[in-house]
This record gives sequence, structure tokens and C-alpha cells, in this order.
Amino acid sequence: MAETIFSKIIRGEIPAKIVHDDELCLAFHDVSPQAPVHVLVIPKKPIESLEHASDEDVAVLGHLQIVAQRVARSLGISESGYRVVMNCGRDGGQSVHHIHYHVLGGRPLAWPPG
Ligand code: AMP
Repeated sequence: MAETIFSKIIRGEIPAKIVHDDELCLAFHDVSPQAPVHVLVIPKKPIESLEHASDEDVAVLGHLQIVAQRVARSLGISESGYRVVMNCGRDGGQSVHHIHYHVLGGRPLAWPPG
């Protein structure tokens, strides 16, 4: 997998506003927030996209979802609700090729997405 900006954040080479850090993953505020709360949850393991994940990644992907829930709680959006999104590939709108969940909330979110 090619190097991405997220690998540099994991290694601490570029700054990020980190809200969660454990042995498997990192969560930090999106640099270009699309909602009052917009956090990215990424695995430390470099997986390019959901399309590149395999059975051995089941535990880490599940962990990312639980961390998304905890981040939502800690940032005060769990009662009002929030959205957890993973973009995959070109038509999915993925721009950083290191798998990640977006956690968005703090305002009503429209559906369907554009
Ligand atoms: P996606 O388009 O689904 O691949 O999402 C990538 C996200 O990464 C976008 O929402 C970007 O705003 C965000 N992003 C890109 N560079 C950074 C960075 N250095 N720190 C935080 N978020 C970033």
C-alpha cells in the first residue's frame, strides 16, 4: 500500500487533534469538518480500503466501530445521534487510501448523500 498522510499522523510526523489512541487505532478531528463534530477513526494497520480488507481484519474493523461509538459519546453527540461512514474507492468518494470511518454529528444530517 502506498504511503498516505494518515501513516504520517500515526507516526507523529504531522500534527493531528487526537481524541483517542490505543494499540490498534487512532481517532482525530478531520482537518476539513463537514459537521460540528467530524472525527476520523483509522486503524494503525495500513489497510487501503474496505475492498482490501480480509477475514484477518474483522477484529480491528469491529474495534474501529466501538471506538467510533466511544468518540461520539465523549464528544457529546450520542444522544442527538450521529453517522458513521466509510467511503470506498472512486465512486465512494474515498480520497485518502488508508481505510477510515468518519464520525459525523452535531447537526441533522441529510439522506441520501449526494
Ligand atoms: P475520504 O474522502 O473518505 O477518503 O476522507 C478523507 C478525509 O481525510 C477527508 O474528510 C479530509 O478532510 C481528511 N483529511 C485529509 N488530510 C487530513 C489531515 N492531515 N488531518 C485530518 N484530516 C485529514
